[in-house]
Amino acid sequence: MTIYGHMICPFCHSPTKIYNSRSTHQKSQTWRRHRCKQCGRTFTTRERIDWTGRVEVKSPDSTTGYSRERLLLSLAKASNNLSVQPAMLAELCDSIEGDLQKLGFFAKTKQESDLITQTAISVLHRYNPNYALQYVNIVYSNKPPLELIKRLVGAENEL
Ligand SMILES: [Zn+2]
Repeated sequence: MTIYGHMICPFCHSPTKIYNSRSTHQKSQTWRRHRCKQCGRTFTTRERIDWTGRVEVKSPDSTTGYSRERLLLSLAKASNNLSVQPAMLAELCDSIEGDLQKLGFFAKTKQESDLITQTAISVLHRYNPNYALQYVNIVYSNKPPLELIKRLVGAENEL
């Protein structure tokens, strides 16, 4: 019995079948190769958990839903003047979501948005310390807490 729905070929709109699939990022993502039964062309789909809308607390009187797009946008802004490929932005976003998942961020109904920032900073710092610094400046509108900058510049392994 097949439990997943088959996609329609994007080229000729005929039914397709999946001929290969595998999990990535600690099995939080799945990639599938599809082949069209009619024209024989192949294409790939990627499936990931959609965390959109999980509640995030911005301040005591402001809550908002988690948005991967908003996170991506801040990563893109921070990558200005750095040679970060678009595909890498998505990879970093996946890593940040993966770490947030491990921290239980998505499991609860209310979370501090600070945890997203902190997690993003440590993931970016592992990737490139300059990138982490630029991200901090974007998030804190060029007025980052001094303590945070000291940690970023000083201790390489403490994040
Ligand atoms: Zn086709």
